[in-house]
Amino acid sequence: MRPGYLPWERLRMSDDAPCVRDDDVELTRAQFRARIEAFAAQLAATGFGRGDVLAIMLPNRLELLVALFAAWRLGGAATPVNPAFTASEADHQITDSGAVVVVNGGPAAPTGGRTAIHVGDMRTADSGAPLPPVALRPDDLALLIYTSGSTGRPKGVMLDHANVEAMSGTMAAHFSLTERDHCLLVLPLFHANAIMVSALATIRVGGQLSIVGSFSASRFFDHVEKLRPTYFSAVPTIYALLASLPDDVRPDTSSLRFVVCGAAPVSAELLDRCEERFGFTMVEGYGLTEGTCASACNPVDGVRKLGTVGPALPGQRIAIVREDGSPAGTGDIGEVVISGPTVMRGYLGKPEVTAETLVGGWLWTGDVGRLDEDGYLTIVDRVKDMIIRGGENIYPKEIEAVLTAVPGVLEAAVVGRPDDVLGESPVAYVSLYPDARIGDDELLEHCRRHLTRVKVPERIEILDGLPKNPVGKTDKPTLRRSLQPQPV
Ligand code: ATP
Repeated sequence: MRPGYLPWERLRMSDDAPCVRDDDVELTRAQFRARIEAFAAQLAATGFGRGDVLAIMLPNRLELLVALFAAWRLGGAATPVNPAFTASEADHQITDSGAVVVVNGGPAAPTGGRTAIHVGDMRTADSGAPLPPVALRPDDLALLIYTSGSTGRPKGVMLDHANVEAMSGTMAAHFSLTERDHCLLVLPLFHANAIMVSALATIRVGGQLSIVGSFSASRFFDHVEKLRPTYFSAVPTIYALLASLPDDVRPDTSSLRFVVCGAAPVSAELLDRCEERFGFTMVEGYGLTEGTCASACNPVDGVRKLGTVGPALPGQRIAIVREDGSPAGTGDIGEVVISGPTVMRGYLGKPEVTAETLVGGWLWTGDVGRLDEDGYLTIVDRVKDMIIRGGENIYPKEIEAVLTAVPGVLEAAVVGRPDDVLGESPVAYVSLYPDARIGDDELLEHCRRHLTRVKVPERIEILDGLPKNPVGKTDKPTLRRSLQPQPV
């Protein structure tokens, strides 16, 4: 890795091209760098330096990226904190990460007792002497991203500059990004997907990133039509919301070369519906924070296989292993394991969990999948989401796929209800498109026709919308908790 904290400087690109836009503020690379240098000086004045961690608790806005690069400029690392966190949730991350300074929205925001810099007080120009250069090493910690906690308490995933460099470079190459590309930022920047696939992949090739605040389905296509981005990356929930817009919404999406869908299971019906209705090319990818973001992705120009998340990305290896650790054959189901330069350094302060997750250079993902003869990966489910009913293994995703194949069904989530006799029993939750007229009886009948008896949910509840976690993934733990026996 060559020295330099700004990816485009390594590529020796000109300074006067547009780089980052936030609402009406549009900065060239030189202006963006000047903001970073100014804020780095302000940060250095607090004593922040090499090896320190900066907590950044801001919604998607320019200052978040300025703070991130400023931390790297000084040889430090950043931990992005969900700005919607309660004080105790924020305290947990700020304390656990060992952050020494917090950048936040204002005096009322939690600081965990640390030095705070409020966004309104961030310097935009620096009059002092230039900061001395800092050469980053590949194994310097770059990011501490906390997993959403959908399978337990949030853990800090340690990613170093080699991880970040490999991931952003891989994404840029996979999507053939150039300085003509323009990404519309959709997902929150406290999630690896937004940092890697949207922000860093674009900025490193000299492209432009547009920040437009939090997602709103009704305003989304106004941004697309006005800014004319060439791509964006989003989670299935966002596509479900777009697919539910009134039929007369027929946006001009001609600027979009492709769009990315990942981070959670998506139904083939939703992918088809969005492509047909909005006329964009959707590529589904798969990955996890522990692998810096993406490990497999369908190609934009090559063979896209619907229902798969594509082949392993260049430089990474994906294998399927059986429960006893032996390799599974082509088409056989087992746990997905990943190796390569994007695999995390470990979980901060959790050597035992790290040792269980990183074994012999392989990252055990906790996902169940299979590889086809061309190396395309299908995610069957999460190991932890599997339901065991009377000794029979049931993958909720199979039942969800049967439900979302019914016209009118937008999303489905199946979780296990504790059952004294059978151990667990599947219960399905479903949300519908706005105009759909369909009842739970019909859906149950459909399940009976398409699933063996053991997999048929004991009941189906139709909800106005499925609960979501902060990144927009269906919040199965909340659904599961609602099925726990209530104390009398
Ligand atoms: P936690 O690790 O605390 O449970 P999380 O799962 O939300 O939080 P992420 O790293 O954001 O943490 O998510 C990674 C997981 O998302 C993967 O392990 C996988 O289960 C799921 N996932 C990602 N992409 C896809 C996809 N295309 N299809 C199905 N599942 C996916």
